[in-house]
Amino acid sequence: MSKREFITPIGEEGIYILDTASWRAARPVMNKDKCIECGICLTMCPVNAILREGPKKYFISYDYCKGCGICAYECPKKAIDMVKEGGE
Ligand code: SF4
Ligand code: SF4
Repeated sequence: MSKREFITPIGEEGIYILDTASWRAARPVMNKDKCIECGICLTMCPVNAILREGPKKYFISYDYCKGCGICAYECPKKAIDMVKEGGE
C-alpha cells in the first residue's frame, strides 16, 4: 500500500480536510495587485485551503486546494484566476 493511502483527512486544527494536490485539474492563482484583502475567498473555500497570515495576508495552500474554482467565482475583484495544472 502506498504512503498516500494512510493520509488522515483531519488537519492540524482538527478540521476535516483532504490532501487533494494529487488530482487537482486546475489551481487558483491570486493576483495581489487586484486583491483588496476582503477575506471572502477564505470564508467561501469548502476545504479551508485559503489561509490568513497576519491580519490581512491571504494565501492558498496547494496541498489541500481541490481546484473547485469557488474562490475565483466569489472574489469581488476577480483577483483569482484558475490555471490548468501542468499548463504554462
Ligand atoms: S476574495 Fe478576492 S479580493 Fe478578497 S481576499 Fe480573496 S482574492 Fe483578495
Ligand atoms: S479552488 Fe476551491 S478548494 Fe481551491 S482554494 Fe479555491 S475554493 Fe478552495
